[in-house]
Amino acid sequence: MLITSKNPAQGFAALGQAKTSSSAEIQAAVARARRAQGPWAALPLAERIAALRPLIALMEGEGEVLARAVSREMGQTIRLSRAQVDLALENFAWKLDNAPAILAPRETCPGTVVHRIPIGTGAAIFSWNFPLPNLRTALQAVIAGNTVVVKYSEEVPLFSALLDDLVARAGVPEGVMGFVTGGADVGQALLEQEIDFVSFTGSADTGRAVYARAAEKCIPAVLELGGSSPGLVFPDANLDAALPQLLEQRFSNAGQFCSALKRLLVHTDSFEEVLGRLTTAARAMTLGDPLKEDTDMGPLVAARQLDLLEEQVADALERGAVAVCGAMRPEGLHGAFFAPTILKGVTRDMRVWREEVFGPVLPVVPFETYAEAIEMANDTLYGLTALVYTGDAALAARAARDIRAGVVSVNGASFRDPANPFGGVKGSGLGRENGVEGFYDVTQAKLIAGSGA
Ligand code: NAD
Repeated sequence: MLITSKNPAQGFAALGQAKTSSSAEIQAAVARARRAQGPWAALPLAERIAALRPLIALMEGEGEVLARAVSREMGQTIRLSRAQVDLALENFAWKLDNAPAILAPRETCPGTVVHRIPIGTGAAIFSWNFPLPNLRTALQAVIAGNTVVVKYSEEVPLFSALLDDLVARAGVPEGVMGFVTGGADVGQALLEQEIDFVSFTGSADTGRAVYARAAEKCIPAVLELGGSSPGLVFPDANLDAALPQLLEQRFSNAGQFCSALKRLLVHTDSFEEVLGRLTTAARAMTLGDPLKEDTDMGPLVAARQLDLLEEQVADALERGAVAVCGAMRPEGLHGAFFAPTILKGVTRDMRVWREEVFGPVLPVVPFETYAEAIEMANDTLYGLTALVYTGDAALAARAARDIRAGVVSVNGASFRDPANPFGGVKGSGLGRENGVEGFYDVTQAKLIAGSGA
């Protein structure tokens, strides 16, 4: 069976086709990975790292090709795609450079040593929204001596084929990082194989199904799931600094970020000003062809994503929310485009509050007291990231402590450094990618007592 990749910015015109992996091909990919795992893990870490560096060098050389492939297939603006390629390569290089220190044996008491050993062969199942950065979880697993079979979302089959080709061209030993292609059924079939762990990036609903299957098999799972990140703007926040960041946090990648700002909570003192200034900025954004250098926002990834977003917005409007701007498909553009939308009058019964909103729609809600702000921030199934804006360091520290999230950013501080563990609490998942913790989640501790080595 063939998957047709469609261009969401050009009326869903076909970009190309990829073959869905058959059951036999999925089995064969896992068998290759299993055969490769023992010899790969037996290599000294320095040799594994040396074997992977050509892949990173090749990706660097092909950076523009990778960026354009992402922009064409899922609609990310070319400026963002290029920045994401750079960020991903920086992340991959950090992993290669720091693995020796992180994975080094550690003496717990005289003569007793903990080794970080690979888990085995894993299934790495990914979403479409940041395809190259997503590979970092697979890469950290492979550096640590595991082998993986990667399955990207059916929305980016051509990008997956491109990476498969780069891995082969870079001379990474066969089976160390393999690829299968297809949708949910291929993901399910992959989970049915003899695998030792799962690394999953995707929605909370799918994550729960993946986790259930992993539990039945009694294998570990790292789950990087969705989010409904709150942004809290206290009365003493520096709005000149905060507003451009808030705009980017919501509308970058057409709102399709796991960690994007999804609910903005603003103190009543500055509510009208924040609403007004954000609306002016949102209206000024240039929508259009993601491959044009001056485009601020491209389309959503696919028609199904646009349909879901429209249903969520319609639900809010029917229940009494008011669209201050947007809430429509922009005229003259053919594809999965949706205008940057700001909603006020949002209440907690609305889908835009209760569900993850994966598109350019921002509910802005006022609060009076600190307690009210924290209670609203935590009123979500999710707990991935949160943004806090205030000039008061003690207040920021208190809010960062009280918000239930895996990551809290104060006054726009970046959390993207590869040394930082990234991941969520509550319905946003389990385990971490990046940093020391990322390596720990794709390895197991093995204690050897008495050997002295
Ligand atoms: P999705 O859950 O629909 O799909 C994710 C992947 O799982 C795809 O490859 C899909 O084909 C596969 N899949 C679907 N059903 C499956 C099943 N039953 N068994 C096995 N595999 C299955 O998610 P999506 O729409 O591709 O991605 C968007 C979601 O990903 C958002 O919720 C977003 O927040 C989340 N996300 C999270 C992070 C993070 O780091 N926390 C990063 C990126 C995206």
